[in-house]
Formats: sequence, C-alpha cells, structure tokens
Amino acid sequence: MKGFAMLKIGQTGWIEKEKPKAGPLDAIVAPLAIAPCTSDVHTVYSGAIGERSNLILGHEAVGKIVEVGSEVKDFKPGDRVVVPAITPDWRSVEVQNGVPAQHSKGLLTGWQFSNYKDGVFAEYFHVNDADMNLALMPDSMSLEQAVMLPDMVTTGFHGAELADVQYGATVCVIGIGPVGLMAVAASTMRGAGRLFAVGSRAKCVAVAKEYGATDIVNYKQGDIVAQVLEATKGKGVDHVIIAGGGEDVLAQAVNMVKPGGSIGNINYFGEGDSLPVPRLAWGCGMAHKAIRAGLCPGGRGRMERLISLIVHGRLDPSKLVSHRLQGLQGVEKGLALMKDKPADVIKPVVLV
Ligand code: NDP
Ligand code: ZN
Repeated sequence: MKGFAMLKIGQTGWIEKEKPKAGPLDAIVAPLAIAPCTSDVHTVYSGAIGERSNLILGHEAVGKIVEVGSEVKDFKPGDRVVVPAITPDWRSVEVQNGVPAQHSKGLLTGWQFSNYKDGVFAEYFHVNDADMNLALMPDSMSLEQAVMLPDMVTTGFHGAELADVQYGATVCVIGIGPVGLMAVAASTMRGAGRLFAVGSRAKCVAVAKEYGATDIVNYKQGDIVAQVLEATKGKGVDHVIIAGGGEDVLAQAVNMVKPGGSIGNINYFGEGDSLPVPRLAWGCGMAHKAIRAGLCPGGRGRMERLISLIVHGRLDPSKLVSHRLQGLQGVEKGLALMKDKPADVIKPVVLV
C-alpha cells in the first residue's frame, strides 16, 4: 500500500509498505478523510520526538473499517468510524491510575500513530483495541466535522479541562490556530465570562469571535501580558490556556494569571531543553498558580461524548476547515500548508 511518510528529520515522501494486519482485538481502517496537523510539522521539521525513518505520518482520520480481529465485538467491516489520535492500551495499570495517554512503555505512548507505529496518511492503517478506541460516525455528521474530532476538538477541549475553566471566569487562550479555537469554544461552553484570544491572523480572529472570544489580543502589536493586564486593570485572568506562542509563553501565562488561577497547556513545545517559569510572578513557587499540561485524551468514550456535542448542535467544528483537498495525494499539499501557514489557513482537510 501507499503512504506519505517521514523519511527522516526534515524529509517527507511517498513510500510503499505492506498492508497492516489486525490482531485479535484490532481493526484495519481505510481513511475517508484525514487532516495534517501542526504536530506532524513539529515531528518532521523540528525532529521534536527524535529521529524516525520511513514512518507513515498522520494521526487525524475518520474511515471505513475493512477488517476486524476475532475478538472485536462492537464493530464490523463497512462501519464508518471516528479514530482518535490517541489510542491507549486500555489494558494497562496507567489506565487504572487515570493516565491513559502515558502508559508503561514511556511518555506519550498513548499517542501511537506516527510516533510508535505507522500513521493514518496511507491507504490503510491499524487501530489497536478497536472496541475501546473507535467510535461510530453518525450519518448526520459531515466528514469535515468528524475529522476535526480525533485531535482538534478533543485537544482544545482538554485545554479547558486542564485549566479547569469555571463559569463567569476571565480566560485567556494564547494561540488561535485550530487547537486554540477549540479551546475558545470549550471555554465558552464551560461558561467563561470575559474571553481573551491571542493571535494575529484575521481569519482566525474572525472564527475566534464566532466561537465566543470577547477580546482579541494581537501579539504582534505589543507584549501580550501588558495588553491583558491593562484590559483587566492590572488584575490578570483566572485561567490561561496555552495553544500556541513563542518559547516564553509559559512565562507569559504565569505573569498574566491571578493567584489562585490555573494554566492549562496543550501546546507541543517542539524545540529547546527547558521552559522558563518566572520565579517572582510564581510567588517563589507559592502563588497558587497551578500549571497542568497534557496530551489529548483518546479512546471511544471521549469520542462518543464529543460526537454528541456535534450531533445535538452545540458545536460545529467545520468552521476550522479552511482548505479541502481531494484524494490521498492531497495530504502532501495539506502538510505544506500546515508548515507554511499562509494567512488564509486554519486547517486543511483531505477527502480521500
Ligand atoms: P497553529 O500554528 O495553527 O496556531 C498557533 C497559534 O499561535 C496561532 O494563532 C498563532 O498566531 C499563535 N502564535 C504564534 N506565535 C505566537 C506568539 N509569539 N505569541 C502568541 N501567539 C502566537 O497551531 P495549532 O492550533 O494547529 O496547534 C497548536 C499547538 O498544539 C501546536 O504546538 C500543536 O503541535 C499542539 N498540539 C497538541 C496536542 C496535544 O495533545 N497536547 C494535539 C494537537 C496539537 P497567528 O498565526 O495568528 O499569528
Ligand atoms: Zn493533530
């Protein structure tokens, strides 16, 4: 089968591989729609998770099942499914301890596609533990909406969970690419009062307002901490969600969050050895400014709840889709768009 792969750090290309086989609990899926991600860009071009050779890229897909293993109970060939980017090993002690995305084989091991095994930018891909990791795609949902679920929706929403956004609270979402825009939508749903969104591109700003941002902060027009503090009369915000930004973004978050507030990080820091935290603004470690950071949770239960938001009209993630490309080969252009981020790109989708 054909797949679009990371050949080595900094280099991509089309390769031929054997079609994957399903173990007893697994499924083989043919993609219907896929989406390239900023994380693919970090992986290939920054070498953020280290060297990988001839590894098929991609972790965002919806597809049609072509094969299931002998022990799979709830899915069959022909079913259309949403495939979460994170497909944990549900038979692990870490799952029992509540951290499915990080299991015994090491950090971030719940993230298997295009990290520990071939990803979804191929004619077929393998899904471990199908009953626990797949969710049926309702007919009422468009492919464009569905393919925003595996990563953009779940990660953005996880940002609001990590920051523990409370109703009526003042929130700042730093970064309004597709992930940050879903964090804006999630904060609105959790009842945020004032909602700052930090970005610069007009297209993302317009969508941020549609998802509920009340104030826009342009990081190209001055220090974002100063802008947020000025707008809040020096008080700062209750919650910060980091979904983009430069190498000083964690410091900025600590500087703008109130004592007692919380920071949720979903950004993938692709470069550097350490991230500075401002000691004094963090109260020498005693300011009750919580920092939580995480990989988006995966699995079937979470996907089914997020599907419910779309089916019942509470969320329309298709506003993120800025480009539609046809055929598997379109993924090459899609990844280039994610890498170069021209002004009109939010998220490209490839309809296979
Ligand atoms: P984008 O690159 O599309 O968006 C980044 C955003 O950050 C844009 O709004 C951009 O503004 C803004 N930005 C850039 N520089 C600065 C700066 N110096 N200060 C403030 N804002 C800035 O990324 P995505 O939305 O696709 O992804 C966001 C992050 O989430 C990525 O690091 C990605 O790898 C990560 N990720 C993490 C996952 C997880 O599970 N934790 C899963 C998926 C993604 P503008 O372009 O308007 O100038
Ligand atoms: Zn992604």
